[in-house]
Amino acid sequence: IGSASASTVRQVKLDRESELRIEVSNETPLRLRVLNGNAEIFGTELPPEIWLSFPPRLKFAVFTWYGATIEMDGTTETEYTADETPMVSYVNVHAVLEGRRNHAKASASKGSDTSQVQGPRVIVVGPTDSGKSTLSRMLLSWAAKQGWKPTYVDLDIGQGSITVPGSIAATPIELPIDSIEGIPLEMALVYFFGHTTPSNNLDLYKVLVKELAQMLEKQFTGNAESRAAGMVINTMGWIEGVGYELILHAIDTFNANVVLVLGQEKLFSMLRDVLKNKPNVDVVKLQKSGGVVSRNAKVRQKARSYRIREYFYGLTNDFSPHANVANISDLHVYRIGGGPQAPRSALPIGADPVANPLRLVPVNVDQDLLHLLLAVSYAKEPDEIISSNVAGFIYITDVDTRRKTVTYLGPSAGILPSKYLILGTLTWLET
Ligand code: ADP
Repeated sequence: IGSASASTVRQVKLDRESELRIEVSNETPLRLRVLNGNAEIFGTELPPEIWLSFPPRLKFAVFTWYGATIEMDGTTETEYTADETPMVSYVNVHAVLEGRRNHAKASASKGSDTSQVQGPRVIVVGPTDSGKSTLSRMLLSWAAKQGWKPTYVDLDIGQGSITVPGSIAATPIELPIDSIEGIPLEMALVYFFGHTTPSNNLDLYKVLVKELAQMLEKQFTGNAESRAAGMVINTMGWIEGVGYELILHAIDTFNANVVLVLGQEKLFSMLRDVLKNKPNVDVVKLQKSGGVVSRNAKVRQKARSYRIREYFYGLTNDFSPHANVANISDLHVYRIGGGPQAPRSALPIGADPVANPLRLVPVNVDQDLLHLLLAVSYAKEPDEIISSNVAGFIYITDVDTRRKTVTYLGPSAGILPSKYLILGTLTWLET
């Protein structure tokens, strides 16, 4: 299937309920437009006739419900049409969720209690590369198209569809998600974990998931509209052992009431059995799309790096990040957990020298911070750092120990909203 193409303008005719699957070339963007009929990309309708430019490496499908003709200009890694897709089953899920939103909204206007007015809280689970992020996107865009403002929650620290990897985040989706730009970051609530795998500090991961859930719950209290619209929660692909525990933890913490299991029979049956005694939680098995592109560890690592680059420079180099200078004495950098354990001699007799996973460990600002990503906390005091969300990220490009200053890259100029910075193990080599 699929072959690289020459850079010529070409047309593809799509039959009803089929899709054109594309991997844009690694070097050049692809121009594409809908000549006639209607087509959508992951739930967001394409405007008729207008040329759109898709950046290098983007992988997507142009799907049509009733047939369409697509025109393309530029090279691709892969392009082929598929008439077997799970889209009908996905849109059926959407229809059920829609019914629950309407029910919640109607109950809210009658002044019922919160359990009645709560819209669907959907959690999407499955192995890596099963199409979780893509399905989440479709459900959100279809809901937004009908005027809802559902909340998207991304718990996947490995890739990060809202902000940089190593973070968990949530944002309201007010419009169908832009096929090129992806999920908007402007209104996001972001917590920084600092690592791309939860096993680096499981306790911290769980604490942050809980903080995020509580914050959203608080926001919903005053907002019947977003409560009725509900949430779509995307999770990471780690589904065995501790990964499985974390799925259960997320279901519980967010009070999810719809669990969508993509592409794994075993996970589906495990979750169905363990959630049997919760009659208000539906566990639904869904087929994985044949269009989902698998990524190996190296590709994943690369994608993380591009994602960080995109944070500072924009998708098409359209942002200009600022190089700022700060005095070392004005910055307070902390690591969470680990650090050197207290020597046994310093502990009370009988106490175990276990590292506290939630301990704040101050970090010296020196050359060791080069190539690491730092989160800027909203905390006002150090002891608020763990429970605070973050304003954004900076990247230290130079440490001048003689002048006692650092130069850092930030998405904007001006003073940092806080002097408290969080350090993890997330590195980035600017290229
Ligand atoms: P997961 O979240 O389970 O890891 P994703 O939803 O991120 O998987 O999908 C992996 C990749 O496959 C993404 O780049 C996505 O854009 C692409 N993809 C998903 N579905 C399709 C499809 N039907 N056609 C082409 N590419 C797809």
